[in-house]
Amino acid sequence: MSDIIKILPSDVSNKIAAGEVVQRPSSVLKELIENSIDANSTRIQIIIKDAGKNLIQVIDNGKGMSINDMHLSFIKHATSKINKIEDIFTISSMGFRGEALAAIASVSMVEMESINDNQNGHFIEINGGELLNENESNIQEGTSIKIKNIFYNIPARRNFLKSDFVELRHILDVFHRLAISHPEIEFSFINNEEEIFYLKEELLNKRIISIFGEKIRENLIPINESTQIANISGFVLKPEFSKKSRSNQFVFVNNRFIKSQFISHSISVSYEGLLKDGYYPGYFLFIDIDPSKIDVNVHPNKTEIKFDDDQNLYSIINSLVKHCLGIYQVSPVLDFDKDPSMDISYDQVKSQPTNPTIEINSEFNPFNVFKEKEMNKVSGDYLSPNNKLNFDDNNQDLKIFQILNKFIVSTNKSSLIIINQNLAHQRILYESFLKSIFENTENSQKLVFPIELSLTKKQLLLYNKIIDEFKSIGFEISLKNELMLIESIPFGIEKNNVEEVIENILNEEFNVSNDFSTADFFAKRLSKITSIKSGQKLNLDEQEYIVNHLFSCKEPNLSPDNKQIFITLNKNDIENKFNG
Ligand code: ADP
Ligand code: MG
Repeated sequence: MSDIIKILPSDVSNKIAAGEVVQRPSSVLKELIENSIDANSTRIQIIIKDAGKNLIQVIDNGKGMSINDMHLSFIKHATSKINKIEDIFTISSMGFRGEALAAIASVSMVEMESINDNQNGHFIEINGGELLNENESNIQEGTSIKIKNIFYNIPARRNFLKSDFVELRHILDVFHRLAISHPEIEFSFINNEEEIFYLKEELLNKRIISIFGEKIRENLIPINESTQIANISGFVLKPEFSKKSRSNQFVFVNNRFIKSQFISHSISVSYEGLLKDGYYPGYFLFIDIDPSKIDVNVHPNKTEIKFDDDQNLYSIINSLVKHCLGIYQVSPVLDFDKDPSMDISYDQVKSQPTNPTIEINSEFNPFNVFKEKEMNKVSGDYLSPNNKLNFDDNNQDLKIFQILNKFIVSTNKSSLIIINQNLAHQRILYESFLKSIFENTENSQKLVFPIELSLTKKQLLLYNKIIDEFKSIGFEISLKNELMLIESIPFGIEKNNVEEVIENILNEEFNVSNDFSTADFFAKRLSKITSIKSGQKLNLDEQEYIVNHLFSCKEPNLSPDNKQIFITLNKNDIENKFNG
């Protein structure tokens, strides 16, 4: 038998390869816009006719191409973006395989005009991969590329295109993803002669509003955290804004839209209990990660991705989202049945989880405390229908009391609760400080006589690192050389304590890589210093304040340092004590 293996002519192999890159008009649009972005364009215009079936045009003001490069750009594996194999592990540009234009040109009619610094404008026309025409062009800047009659030479593929409605939806998906990840670029989008988007250069939140409408504005909850593994930023949407589809879910890794089941799972879990059945949360999450820690090369369309450290990333995202939802007070308020170990606060993620230690005072003798009079009264039900602890003003019965100047004893419907007053107050302050830091709420009292403090070089260094956090929680501080002048202090901090508070914070060994974030560090330190201590006698108002506020916290179970704040004894526990 004679030889039967032959090498496919490049037009055939290009057409086959085109199947991977060019599935539908939207995939063409994605490649073209990405090329414009890679060419450093600041303005991109998109013109679509008949859902891209007859025309997809992208006009940019990027760096353009030389005549030679215009020709080369349509050859397979022609790229200006990588030279050697190592490059693909550090690549930051959108495309790098050098196959998009070759693939697109093999299945459509292409007209390209471009100009660069060194040459006059030029025009080339390519049909099914064959050069048809070239000429001078009077294009003034950047590149314009028209893709006409996609799949004209593969009728089977053309017939497979869906209705205009469906194809346009894919096109808009692609456009949204790229417009959201590039708010610094001005976009115009014209569909069948009508401009349906004009997006000027703007900030991310504005860009999201420009695309999704004014209503989304008040539903955006900002996220911003640097961790050792990745920097995470963007917005999650309040549960009220969840949708019956996943259409508001956007995850970008190194500014590239990706689909990742485990990331969307970790976010969905954070919303647990907050969404109606069948509703999906919305988010715009940007994960910045060292490119060598991911593999984007796993799928030709590059919307799937592999992370080296996906387990840690999972828990970081999960607790971060939870935390942000909590700060905006949308988490369920009180759930005594909740297992505290299930509730990892985001600041715990950085370290290995430690088992909460249950503090039980061995000297505690219940019979000293539960005199008959009180025992009869601790059966009150503090749980109001909306699940917040609630005290009946008209009822003077003692329902809360302090023991050993250290614990507050209270009850709910079926359990006895013993709360560590110091840890509880730390948790309350921690959440409220975090809230003021993130929300930048006005929380300041002006001092009649400013306080002066002189700082060491080391303290000064640290102060400069966390100056914003000082401000955001209500300190107004000016510096004169090494002298600190404190003009305003946050509510909740006693004037007499200010010196101690500041000294204490600035003497901490501060290390960003150890601490989850500056805000977290700050809130933790501050809450520790300013909290009510063990040994302090509390009046009834103070005790009630602690109980009420603790159970309005996002995570009432654990102190900022992960210590168990309260223990509960339910009916069984108590009965067992008698039967045991
Ligand atoms: P890749 O983007 O993977 O390099 P493409 O086939 O998409 O491959 O593009 C090939 C090359 O053509 C790019 O590397 C780039 O040098 C050039 N190119 C394509 N589009 C543009 C554009 N709009 N402006 C400037 N250069 C472009
Ligand atoms: Mg490309």
